[in-house]
Amino acid sequence: MESPNLEIKQRASELRSLLQKASYAYYVLDNPIMEDAVYDSLYRELQQLETQYPELASLDSPTARVGEKPATGFKSVQHRIPLYSLENAFNIEELQNWEKRTQRQTPSIKVAEYVCELKIDGSALALSYENGILVRGVTRGDGVTGEDITQNVRTIRSIPLKLELENCPPLVEVRGEAFLPLDVFQQINQERLTVGEQLFANPRNAAAGTLRQLNPKIVAKRKLDFFAYTLHIPGQDDTSIARTQWEALELLQKMGFKVNPNRTLSPTSQEVAEYYQRWDTERLNLPYMTDGVVVKLNSFSLQEQLGFTQKFPRWAIALKYAAEEAPTRVENIVINVGRTGALTPLAHMRPVQLAGTTVSRATLHNADRLKELDIRIGDTVIVRKAGEIIPEVLRVLRELRPPDTQAFEMPLNCPVCHQKVVRTLGEAVTRCVNASCPAILKGAIEHWVSRDALDINGMGEKLGYQLVERGLVHSVADLYELTTQKLQTLERMGNKLAEKLIDAIALSKTKPWSRVLYGLGIRHVGSVNAQTLTQQFPSIEQLSQAEIHDIAAVYGIGAEIAGSVHQWFRIPANQTLISRLQNLGLQLEAEVKETPITPLTGKTFVITGTLPTLKREEVKELIEKTGAKVTDSVSKKTDYLVVGAEAGSKLTKAQKLGITCLEESQLLELLNQ
Ligand code: NAD
Repeated sequence: MESPNLEIKQRASELRSLLQKASYAYYVLDNPIMEDAVYDSLYRELQQLETQYPELASLDSPTARVGEKPATGFKSVQHRIPLYSLENAFNIEELQNWEKRTQRQTPSIKVAEYVCELKIDGSALALSYENGILVRGVTRGDGVTGEDITQNVRTIRSIPLKLELENCPPLVEVRGEAFLPLDVFQQINQERLTVGEQLFANPRNAAAGTLRQLNPKIVAKRKLDFFAYTLHIPGQDDTSIARTQWEALELLQKMGFKVNPNRTLSPTSQEVAEYYQRWDTERLNLPYMTDGVVVKLNSFSLQEQLGFTQKFPRWAIALKYAAEEAPTRVENIVINVGRTGALTPLAHMRPVQLAGTTVSRATLHNADRLKELDIRIGDTVIVRKAGEIIPEVLRVLRELRPPDTQAFEMPLNCPVCHQKVVRTLGEAVTRCVNASCPAILKGAIEHWVSRDALDINGMGEKLGYQLVERGLVHSVADLYELTTQKLQTLERMGNKLAEKLIDAIALSKTKPWSRVLYGLGIRHVGSVNAQTLTQQFPSIEQLSQAEIHDIAAVYGIGAEIAGSVHQWFRIPANQTLISRLQNLGLQLEAEVKETPITPLTGKTFVITGTLPTLKREEVKELIEKTGAKVTDSVSKKTDYLVVGAEAGSKLTKAQKLGITCLEESQLLELLNQ
């Protein structure tokens, strides 16, 4: 048998101590120190270690017990029948494994039937009825011993004090979940907030905390509710009164209990899976919290054959909903250099299941976030993935930090080209500004050849990378000086393929000026902005000489874009690139459109407010057809202001400057002339 090394032993002991602390905070203090999903995941890690290395297992391990010993002023009571926990499954595959296991253990049974119930997120209660009268209510406690909270239980309206049952057995034990409806939970927290008391983390803790209130008057005010789900007849065979779980639930209802109506009888695990999937979204409309579904074998005789493990029944399983947060370990921290030169720290982590996908990388955003997290290689962290968002590290579990870790800092030099990196004051991003940094170059080439830019067929990401790595290309202009001979020095590049590529590169020279501008990869200039800009600046020369306010005056172009474009043209390396592209024959001017000369040609219009019939884009198009242009802001250069409803400051400014204002009808008249 394999023996655990020191590191594994240490990890197991760290996990044990953290889980113990969490479990105490959760069960005894009703004040959890971590999310349930995080607890579950750490618990699983410990469980896996203990299975792999049985010598790690110990009786004091949190995996060996159900709950915590109660610690309040109530009398301890031993349960007649222990209150077990439930085995957890987190996906359909685990459910199917459980099903296979139960089938193996009961080979004589061919068809199993399952009862699916919602897993109510509350606190389990055991109720004892003597001759039909409620005599005792006990919390689950550690499963063996609980607290006698009968006084409090009597305040729960949905728990009958007397059972509606003819020929009632002398002793009946009913178990179920006490819970707080969501609106009551929110109201309680609101009240606690006003009086400055600590808030309950979730309805489950609020319910558990309420049940263990020493003052029943407070309990009564809190409006706890109860769903019954288990029926026992101590001293008798349970089947004397019901033969299946389904029958037991119906009987509980007849006896006067509230039984959750959203239950179903499923003949196959396929139907169980459908129930589970359906309630993943429908549960959000329920007035109480559910964190999964409980699947139970329907037949009591089958249940009896399967029996219990030390902790849970073998005939039931809790199928929990996927968490969007989970803990995992950081194996490495690497710096990625993007196309714009931005350095992004990334955590490489042990793969973890999150919101249904496997995640092994998470972004650490930037230097500030790195510092704030103080994340280190070897750390256990909580990662989150919500919807389509890239996974991110939420926080570090410092308690689980191994000894001798080192703080991780953003490098002072680019990890790719080793030149000094720059962080502009007030900006979060650290950048490599070396235009010939291979990382930036690779990104630049990938962008240049992409479909919306110069669309160079056959020039994939890998090929671009090889060209940079082999030193064949130092700028996008070098692509146009490649020859078939040079290309053939690359792996798996035959003569035919090389010729095809050279043709594709040559063809890209016919792509219009707007595509070239987009291909240059200037920050904030996407393909739509590139088209807008090239309409107003029909040549690269005009754009490169334009002042920021000229660029910002273009309809749809804001100050940030204008600043970025202006700055790009001021960098000498970029000027060199442009003149090379010019000499190589790329399209750096728009084809001259045959716009007729009209009286409005060269005039400048600005639009403000909402026009009665025309949309802004339509007006703009009509005006531009006459050879006039539309800009964003009013200045001395503006000839006309087109005014619609709710016109703003532009109108005031135009009036001050004495600019002609036109309503929609007047504009149309002018255009018609
Ligand atoms: P559990 O909550 O996962 O499942 C068992 C319980 O489900 C039962 O005791 C019962 O109360 C409840 N239940 C609800 N509806 C039911 C139904 N229809 N049929 C049967 N039972 C139903 O297990 P647990 O042992 O009560 O608690 C363990 C869980 O508690 C962990 O998985 C973890 O999520 C949470 N926990 C969290 C922390 C923390 O720090 N956040 C600490 C300890 C435990």
